[in-house]
Amino acid sequence: AAKDRGGQNAIFYDELHSDQLHEIATIEGQLRKALDREELILNYQPIVDSTGRVSAAEALIRWIHPVHGFISPAKFIPIAEETGLIIKIGEWVLRTACIQHKQWIDSKRLPPFDLSVNVSLRQFLNQDFVEMVDRILAETRFDPERLVLEITEGYVNKNVEYGNHVLNQLKNRGIRIAIDDFGTGYSSLSRLKTLPIHVLKIDRSFIRYVQNDSANASIVEAVVHIGKSMNLKVMSEGVETIEELQFLKSVNCHQYQGYLISPPLPAAEFEARFQEFSLPLQMLAEQR
Ligand code: C2E
Ligand code: MG
Ligand code: MG
Ligand code: MG
Repeated sequence: AAKDRGGQNAIFYDELHSDQLHEIATIEGQLRKALDREELILNYQPIVDSTGRVSAAEALIRWIHPVHGFISPAKFIPIAEETGLIIKIGEWVLRTACIQHKQWIDSKRLPPFDLSVNVSLRQFLNQDFVEMVDRILAETRFDPERLVLEITEGYVNKNVEYGNHVLNQLKNRGIRIAIDDFGTGYSSLSRLKTLPIHVLKIDRSFIRYVQNDSANASIVEAVVHIGKSMNLKVMSEGVETIEELQFLKSVNCHQYQGYLISPPLPAAEFEARFQEFSLPLQMLAEQR
């Protein structure tokens, strides 16, 4: 460890460490209050299929801090996980997203599409998780067949038996599971084969310049083939250019998500711009 090297290093190490601890403690304290103070909001990002239809929307949390402004979930979700706050926040996310989605569809302001919600490992492995999902579904009268839960590969190698048990309970309710950031974890293919999952979301690092980057192209094609043979839908995240989209469509990727289609948007904007989400695919069709 840095400490063993002694001298300057040890001091530097300790200062750095206590700074980080201080920052985490500060964020934690403020995050606890953020829910009650309504500083947390959800954005929605569309996911389109190869015909341009919006097949789903992913709910993504944002923290608008009264002093510091926008704080990225990449920064506060890990702290929420470490401190256990993710349990409360995760429940709020699911409830809020279900209520919003139901309003859109029941009022016919938007046509039907699926709702995708991120679930972190700590939340997923919490013993009350399925009970919480049941409670929210009942409370919001949400159709479980419209719900997709996104989990990362992490659990696949950790607590495998318990994880599979949870996945099967969710599956029995008609809920679908997507593996988020697929390709960045360590899940073995033989294990993947046995999981009751439905969607592979290819991590956006593999989508970048996929039309020119032959390594990325091979990875994406391989995942599409794996998906086909395991009867899974394959989704690409982080699609930013028309060239990337064109490549992904040519290898028969099923669904696309990314800034090219739309960034995540606040609910009102998502609703107002709904018709625009298929424009990139229309552009592609016209190019031919
Ligand atoms: P994720 O679930 O993999 O979400 C995709 C991330 O990529 C989002 O970042 C999204 O804004 C971003 N993104 C979408 N399209 C593009 C694109 O074309 N280019 C680029 N460069 N980025 C794109 P965001 O919203 O900052 O969220 C980061 C991560 O935080 C998420 O990754 C997810 O793991 C976590 N997260 C967000 N909301 C929640 C939540 O409600 N619950 C939990 N447990 N985690 C969440
Ligand atoms: Mg996600
Ligand atoms: Mg993720
Ligand atoms: Mg992802």
